[in-house]
Amino acid sequence: MSLWSSKVSFEDYYVDDIFPLVRSAKLKINKKSVYTPLLWLGHLPSAQPHIWNHFDIETIMVSAYEIIRNRRVYEEICEKGIHKYLGFDGLVIMDSGGFSFQKKDSLEVDPEDILELYEMSKPDLGVVLDHPLNPLENEMKNKDRWMKTLQNSDLMLKNGKIPLIPVVHGYSLEDLRNSCNDIKKIHENPPIIGLGSIVPLIFKCRGSKKFKNSVNFIIDSVRMVRKEFPDSLLHVFGIGSAKSMHLMYSLGVDSLDSMGWRLKAAYGCIQLPGVGDRYPLNKNNGRPSLSKDDKKLLDLCECPICRYKSLKEKIEVLDSDFKSRAIHNAWVFMRERDLYYEKLLDGSCFDFCNERLKKGFFSKHFNYALQEVVHQKLG
Ligand SMILES: [Zn+2]
Repeated sequence: MSLWSSKVSFEDYYVDDIFPLVRSAKLKINKKSVYTPLLWLGHLPSAQPHIWNHFDIETIMVSAYEIIRNRRVYEEICEKGIHKYLGFDGLVIMDSGGFSFQKKDSLEVDPEDILELYEMSKPDLGVVLDHPLNPLENEMKNKDRWMKTLQNSDLMLKNGKIPLIPVVHGYSLEDLRNSCNDIKKIHENPPIIGLGSIVPLIFKCRGSKKFKNSVNFIIDSVRMVRKEFPDSLLHVFGIGSAKSMHLMYSLGVDSLDSMGWRLKAAYGCIQLPGVGDRYPLNKNNGRPSLSKDDKKLLDLCECPICRYKSLKEKIEVLDSDFKSRAIHNAWVFMRERDLYYEKLLDGSCFDFCNERLKKGFFSKHFNYALQEVVHQKLG
C-alpha cells in the first residue's frame, strides 16, 4: 500500500445498459469530489487566459515540464503551492511532462526532481515520470523506454507522498498486458491508471503500414486496460478533443485531458458542437470557414464571449482575438463533456454519441467499437 492510497477513492455509481463499460463514478481526492467522466483542460502555468475566471470548471492539468523550464515560475509555484499560484481551488493534475522532456533530450530530469516538485507544489494528483513510446521507433528502443518508465514507477509509487497516476504503454496488446502486470507488481489496485503513448497513434500513423488500424488498436487497448484494472479510474492522455471525447467516453474511458482548446485558438480555429475545426471568417484561402449550419450553431453559443452578442459581433471577436477564441473553445469542450454526462444519466448517451460520431474521421471506428459491444452482448 502506498503512503497516499487512502487519500483517493473511486466508487461506482452508475453504469449504462447499452455500453457495458460506460460508467459514471465519484472520484474523491482529499476532501474534493467530482463525477466522471472527466475532462481536464491543459493549462500553461504562466499563460492567459485563466479559464476558471471566465466560467466554472473543476478540473485543470498543468505540466511539470512547463514549470521546471522556467526558474521564476518554479520557485513561485513551490513557495505558494499550485492552487494559490493559479488562483484555482478545483482539482489539479500535474503531469510529469515525460513526452516534452523526451522531445528535448537536452533537458535531463530525474523522478526524484519530479517528486520534489509535486511535494512542494501540492497538486491533487501527480503523474509518474514516463517515457512515452514512439510508433516510428524500433521495438528495442520502445522496450528500453518502458523499462525506464517501470523503474520510475517503482521509485515514485513507493516514495511519493501525494496521490500518483501510474501510466501503462504498449504498441501491441501483448506488450500492453505485460506492462499492466508490471505495474500490478508495484501497486495491485491503483485508484487511477493512465494509458499513454496514444496521441502519436492518431497523428503520426495515418498511412503507416505497421499501424493500419491505429484507432481500432486504441479501442482494443482501452478495453484491455479497463479489464486489467476494472476498479481503477482510467485516464487516457492527450486526446480529449471535442471530436474524440465521445468515442473515448463510449469505450469506457473515465477521464481525458486536452490542450486542444488553446492550440486550436492559437491557429485561429474555433470549435462548435459536433463540428471539426472552423475559421470564423472566409478569407478565400481554402481553409474551412463557417457554413450556414455552423453559423446557426454559433448563433446559439452562450459562452462568456458569445453571450449577448449578435452573430456578426461573435464572428468579429472570434476572428480577431486569441483569448476570446480560447475561452469560447474551452467552453465548447466542457459543454460537450457536460452534455455527455447528462445523456449518460438519462439513458440516451448511445443516441448522443451516435449523432456526434456519425460523420467524420471517427465514424468507422465508432462502428468497430459497436460491433464489439454486440459481440459481448451475444457472448
Ligand atoms: Zn462562444
